[in-house]
Amino acid sequence: MLVVMQAQATEDQVRAVCQKIESLGYRAHSMPGAQRTAIGITGNKGEVESGTLDEMPGVQEVIRVSKPYKLVSRDTKPDNTVIKFPGSHVTIGGTDLAIIAGPCAIENRDQAFKVAERVARAGAQFFRGGAYKPRTSPYSFQGLGEEGLQIMAEVRDRFGLLIVTEAVDYESLDLVDKYADVIQIGARNMQNFSLLKRAGRARKPVLLKRGISATLEEFLMAAEYVMSEGNYSVVLCERGVRTFADHTRNTLDLSVVPAVQRLSHLPIIVDPSHGTGKRNKVTPLSRAAVAVGADGLIVEVHHDPDRALSDGMQSLYPDQFDALMAQVKQIAAVLGRTIERAHEPIAATTK
Ligand code: PEP
Ligand code: MN
Repeated sequence: MLVVMQAQATEDQVRAVCQKIESLGYRAHSMPGAQRTAIGITGNKGEVESGTLDEMPGVQEVIRVSKPYKLVSRDTKPDNTVIKFPGSHVTIGGTDLAIIAGPCAIENRDQAFKVAERVARAGAQFFRGGAYKPRTSPYSFQGLGEEGLQIMAEVRDRFGLLIVTEAVDYESLDLVDKYADVIQIGARNMQNFSLLKRAGRARKPVLLKRGISATLEEFLMAAEYVMSEGNYSVVLCERGVRTFADHTRNTLDLSVVPAVQRLSHLPIIVDPSHGTGKRNKVTPLSRAAVAVGADGLIVEVHHDPDRALSDGMQSLYPDQFDALMAQVKQIAAVLGRTIERAHEPIAATTK
């Protein structure tokens, strides 16, 4: 159920409706929009008796939601969600594109700083890097753990980049929530429902990657899990799905971008690195992702990809990332979008 408030409804009226919903034993999710506030109701087993809410001051209508997802839906919130970061003008989901770049994994301080310096100079606003790596083989590099998070926190202080990093379980989620600016939930965990709920109780924005074989509905339902716990700052990420095609690691499904945008107000970005698995395809697919209307990119960059401890084959050299940025800026302009750096570049001196 969804309670749509009148455009001129007061904050007190919205609060009273939320209190009424909670007193009935349900959960109220107030979603303010440009035109009006909608209040999503979750936790109800069957239909909510709408009569009690219908008559309350400020209520325009109470509607049944027939789609399986409620809070992610444009029915609940017609205007795009724009995620803001305290103390910064950086946003995700607004006119400005979010560019997230960095190595697959944090390997050591020197590597992280070398890559961060280059991606910051190229104009990325976010630094990515895994401290907890979900690897196919238990014998592959698993990440530095908390030490990796500490290195990323140093990168934020030094270069002014916001930090995006993956949590793989409850324990790492608590640490990622403490150190990072955005909590990444990886493709393999897209349907780890208890982890999604835990991310929903965290206060940092969540970057949710599409599962390796997830349908659009499954993808949106995963975001619904996070939102149902009260965290409305979710960024969706298309990172390729498994198909019969073997010329790439995954098949990047760019058509999901407009499909998501039609149904949901949440921002969606594209990962052309995992989406293709091949360095030579990352820049062309980045151009395409921006052209198709993505709200940003997450790209793997390494100063020495041949010696990277993970995903070297798909990691760009810093010079290639410079070229990518120059190209996508031009494509963004055609669509009336911008790519603004977080701040003026910091003088280049690594260590
Ligand atoms: C990653 O971003 O390094 C990663 C492991 O991504 P995914 O979950 O999409 O495979
Ligand atoms: Mn990777």
